Amino acid sequence: MKNEQLVARGKAVLTPNYKQAPLALVRGAGSRVWDADGGEYLDCICGIAVNALGHCHPALVEALEAQGRELWHVSNLFFNPRAVELAEALLEGSLFAKRVFFCNSGAEANEAMLKLARKYQADLGRPERNEIVACVNSFHGRTMFALACTGQPKYHHGFEPLVPGVRHVPYGDLAALEQALGPRTAAFIVEPIQGEAGVMPAPAGYLAAARELTRKAGALLCFDEVQTGVGRTGRMWAHEWDGVAPDLLSAAKALANGFPMGALLASEEVGAHLTPGSHASTFGGNALGCAVALATLKVMRGGVLEASRAVSARLVERLEALRSTGRVAGVRGRGMLQGVLLQGVSAGEVVEGARDRGLLVNAIGDAVIRFAPALTLTAAEADLAAERLGAAIQAAPARG
Ligand SMILES: *Cc1c(COP(=O)(O)O)cnc(C)c1O
Repeated sequence: MKNEQLVARGKAVLTPNYKQAPLALVRGAGSRVWDADGGEYLDCICGIAVNALGHCHPALVEALEAQGRELWHVSNLFFNPRAVELAEALLEGSLFAKRVFFCNSGAEANEAMLKLARKYQADLGRPERNEIVACVNSFHGRTMFALACTGQPKYHHGFEPLVPGVRHVPYGDLAALEQALGPRTAAFIVEPIQGEAGVMPAPAGYLAAARELTRKAGALLCFDEVQTGVGRTGRMWAHEWDGVAPDLLSAAKALANGFPMGALLASEEVGAHLTPGSHASTFGGNALGCAVALATLKVMRGGVLEASRAVSARLVERLEALRSTGRVAGVRGRGMLQGVLLQGVSAGEVVEGARDRGLLVNAIGDAVIRFAPALTLTAAEADLAAERLGAAIQAAPARG
């Protein structure tokens, strides 16, 4: 009853840009969330790959409360210890990064990354190098530059004119990339796994070859790790699996486990070009967000990453077993980011059926179910998730 009322009130006052489930979630703990009527769910989408340590992790609650009593925000007119400590923690073990810029979302991190790519080239005396090469089906966010790079025309409609100087190449197509890179290219922006395209991992060797091609062409290599970063794939950054270092990297989603935070990581050479006054964010690096992010990284590095690999392998195994329904064509992804490819049933209907059975996942298009559970998901929860998804798939009406 409370669900129904909250949903009705929400629909009356919020802009209608989201397709929202008729549920109001009021409480969470670990991988469980509860709705306003007391219904319990196993959360395998976690705020779209955000709550990587689950809901209300005690160490994060502690960090937030402690920082909340000490200092919230001072702006970047001054240093604050949490921002310094978080930057140090983010750079620890990085294959390339020596500098960090803080912001508040994924789109903003990409906006900073794209702007810096242009500025770097302009500072080097070649302002004609202002083009960005991006991928078809990519997703980089909703601000204008990030939107222009997003390779999904449906998101462009109504918002033209887009930022000029962006061209798209098919994801995974090295010949097309080589052809697109030239004397006018500032940078190539790419996701190690295309999350919003339906969890599409890059083909083996693609990132390494892109590194070589961009280097040869004098263009920067930018990894959008907003979705894949901060532990999602079982390592701190997805590019570590390939051992390929970009020049720039954007992060957000899981960075502070649900407190809005974004970050741009840069090599020393490129990061140095974000000179005083050139770019800024009022809230960027605010002490509350940094304190939570710092605690997030600490917990993740305390054994969570390793443990998540074993559970994600089990989850994949259980999801793969759903092929026996004849309605699952495959499972793809890495670590705790997996897409279940359906056939003969609608992903939207399966998501609704899963919700009715106490499992939260989301549909990408009409054929893919995305799993982005907490890295702290237990083996028993992985089994339960696969069981509930299986039941929902079996019960879904056949698509004509
Ligand atoms: C979610 C996402 C973004 C946008 O992040 P926001 O915080 O919604 O602005 C950008 N890139 C990728 C790969 C994402 O998954």
